[in-house]
Amino acid sequence: MHAFTLSRVSDAREAIAAHRRDVDAVLIAGGTDLIGLMKDRAALPAHVIDINGLPGMSDVDARSDGSLRIGALARMSDVAAHPAVRERCPVIAESLLFAASGQLRNMASIGGNIMQRTRCAYFRDYDGLPCNKRAPGSGCSALHGLNRGHAIFGWSESCVATHPSDLAVALAALDAIVHVRNEAGDRAIPFADFHRLPGDTPERDNVLERGELIVALEVPARAESRASHYLKVRDRQSYEFALVSTAAAILTDGRTIRSARLAMGGVAHRPWRLAATEAALRGLSLDDDARLKSAIAESFKDARPLAHNAFKIELAQRCTLRALQTTGARA
Ligand SMILES: Cc1cc2nc3c(=O)[nH]c(=O)nc-3n(C[C@H](O)[C@H](O)[C@H](O)COP(=O)(O)OP(=O)(O)OC[C@H]3O[C@@H](n4cnc5c(N)ncnc54)[C@H](O)[C@@H]3O)c2cc1C
Ligand code: SF4
Repeated sequence: MHAFTLSRVSDAREAIAAHRRDVDAVLIAGGTDLIGLMKDRAALPAHVIDINGLPGMSDVDARSDGSLRIGALARMSDVAAHPAVRERCPVIAESLLFAASGQLRNMASIGGNIMQRTRCAYFRDYDGLPCNKRAPGSGCSALHGLNRGHAIFGWSESCVATHPSDLAVALAALDAIVHVRNEAGDRAIPFADFHRLPGDTPERDNVLERGELIVALEVPARAESRASHYLKVRDRQSYEFALVSTAAAILTDGRTIRSARLAMGGVAHRPWRLAATEAALRGLSLDDDARLKSAIAESFKDARPLAHNAFKIELAQRCTLRALQTTGARA
């Protein structure tokens, strides 16, 4: 049993200062990922700082300009059920409802969700095999090992893991903003810049620095958000992470796509935006499957499958087509 101390804070400055000064300290919200990591000995903090008592961080604010501000401590189940989230951004509500289980969603926070770590089995179920994310410089067992669930985009020789959050995929499609507080004040991080590709430092999942607290996520009003959908393909229908997933949001004129926002999960170390497809979809009919498929294929020209996951290239494109068609029925 790993020994640690637990402190509860009721002031954000206190949490930030305590986290900043101690490299062995970690923040805890719902604990649904952190406790698992501690059990797997992938996180061995000396001090755990419970932030659940921080005021003003659990609300969903549906603003009059159409945007949403979601407190980092809001629970997944509360956000998924919020009427303004369901109406303005169904893709967010669906990404949350397709994640984890009812009990987990009641505990798990929004901030913790986008901070959760990869489900790569070599990282989680440690049995002494090399893992650069767990022990930098030790090697990557998945690169030439069992890599069915791993990345097809953006991976490096150091790490081929995927990011597991469903919500993050929806937030990436809508260009959300992560509001962070540190000792110097507040900073806003565009969602596209929050998660990192592995490069040669895969131990770092995102750009958050020590002594930084996520206070809220902002979802700007987007013309495409109301006609949006999250489609997740997994090995079983509940309590399972994505093999691949697509967040789709579109603006149409009749059956013609005026603009589209598309991001994928299960394919890279961070949510993967399909920018080439978004450009190619403009002006296409939602009823022209052949041209929709060609537009989707544009984003897969630079896919790099591993030994066991080439099937994801076809699966991801089918998932995206189906997500677009379902979204089109809502437009
Ligand atoms: C069996 C199981 C199945 C799951 N299935 C899915 C799934 O299908 N899809 C999916 O998306 N997720 C899934 N999850 C993951 C789950 O959604 C996350 O564990 C949860 O969202 C994490 O939130 P938390 O509040 O419990 O975070 P915690 O475990 O408390 O914290 C996680 C990390 O976030 C950091 N953190 C938390 N809050 C903040 C903050 N405000 N500022 C800075 N850092 C912070 C912590 O320091 C820690 O490093 C599953 C989890 C389990 C156990
Ligand atoms: S893919 Fe990343 S997390 Fe998995 S073994 Fe390799 S380095 Fe570790």
